[in-house]
Amino acid sequence: MHFKYTVIGAGVVGLAIARALSMRCGEDNDVLVVEKEKTFGTGISSRNSEVIHAGIYYVTGSLKHRLCLQGRRLLYDYCRQKSILFNKCGKLIVATGSEEIQALEGVYKQARANVVEHVTCLTAEETLQLEPDIQVFAALYSKETGILDTHAFMQSLESDVQQHNGTVVYHSEVIGLKRTAGGFALRMHDGTEMTSTTVINSAGLHATAVAAMLGIHAETMYPCKGNYFYYNGPHRCQHLIYPVPEKKLTGLGVHTTLDLGGRLKFGPDTEYVDATDDFQVPENKTEAFYQSAKKILNNIELQHLLPDMAGIRPKLQRPEDKQIRDFYIQEEPTVSGFVNLLGIESPGLTSALAIGDYVCKDILKLK
Ligand SMILES: Cc1cc2nc3c(=O)[nH]c(=O)nc-3n(C[C@H](O)[C@H](O)[C@H](O)COP(=O)(O)OP(=O)(O)OC[C@H]3O[C@@H](n4cnc5c(N)ncnc54)[C@H](O)[C@@H]3O)c2cc1C
Repeated sequence: MHFKYTVIGAGVVGLAIARALSMRCGEDNDVLVVEKEKTFGTGISSRNSEVIHAGIYYVTGSLKHRLCLQGRRLLYDYCRQKSILFNKCGKLIVATGSEEIQALEGVYKQARANVVEHVTCLTAEETLQLEPDIQVFAALYSKETGILDTHAFMQSLESDVQQHNGTVVYHSEVIGLKRTAGGFALRMHDGTEMTSTTVINSAGLHATAVAAMLGIHAETMYPCKGNYFYYNGPHRCQHLIYPVPEKKLTGLGVHTTLDLGGRLKFGPDTEYVDATDDFQVPENKTEAFYQSAKKILNNIELQHLLPDMAGIRPKLQRPEDKQIRDFYIQEEPTVSGFVNLLGIESPGLTSALAIGDYVCKDILKLK
């Protein structure tokens, strides 16, 4: 079998790219998605905070910044069109004491530089009107931040691909990838072989391993785990509540998120790890999460914190690096027709639809 475009990985990003491609091409055998697991999104895409980010923190002009802003707008529109559940609940970034004001001002400056809409400065009194149970000295309020039903989003993307004559196959792990005269030969774990003119590597935590099949060692990936605890006690939170971000921005600090059912969660923390498949949440982190949560929220009780889930970020930034790394999305200069996506950590979910357009328009030069 020969395909024009083969996307490796049916996470939210791979599916969004396949959707964008199939909407532009749309003939049989134009677009194929191969996924090693039995369904879509079992990797990073189902182990995250499900937050639609506003685009506040990222380096101005970076792909993370541009694709987050564009992706967020596209995502809200898409959710409305397809009746996918979302809640534009808004987010508070909270300074709990005067010593954090400088950092909070830095975040506000970055939000302004990034031209993020509807970010406002609040006094403690104004913040307490929105969230009466928090510790606050001053805060920023981002009205554009929200949460969504990620599973329904991915299901809808998969259905769009199929409606535009694309094919999504599961239980199909790519174990070999070779350059040929007309493109690429792919070998699957069950011995099946196929060819493709163009290959898009959107394999998340395994993307560097896929690139290495072609001898490409563009970047090293450093897995960074994020654990979550949920809170099964009573609470009155209605917004996402974040501390001022960590200095190196490896994560946004253990924060308070809500899911669409109003369940309160704390996390993710940041811990560089060796394995990409250890999703166990260590119970001995309960106290540390309690201390972080207590710093922001009043009335939190230790016995109501329970281990929830963990996700792993495909970071390009090493623990000792001071520079924040951007998404790596490019056609490899040494292997034309091979588009490599590495380091697609947060805000990858928010950016997914924009990444799809970017790969089509800016990289593959499709209209
Ligand atoms: C803790 C955490 C919190 C986050 N919170 C947010 C958030 O709130 N908002 C936000 O915007 N972003 C967030 N993100 C980022 C977001 O989740 C990711 O950017 C996004 O899910 C990445 O999607 P993906 O498709 O690139 O990867 P994945 O979902 O991992 O998809 C890659 C797919 O490739 C498949 N695959 C791998 N190798 C092969 C192979 N050889 N053959 C076939 N298939 C293969 C895998 O099985 C997998 O399904 C968070 C991430 C983490 C870890």
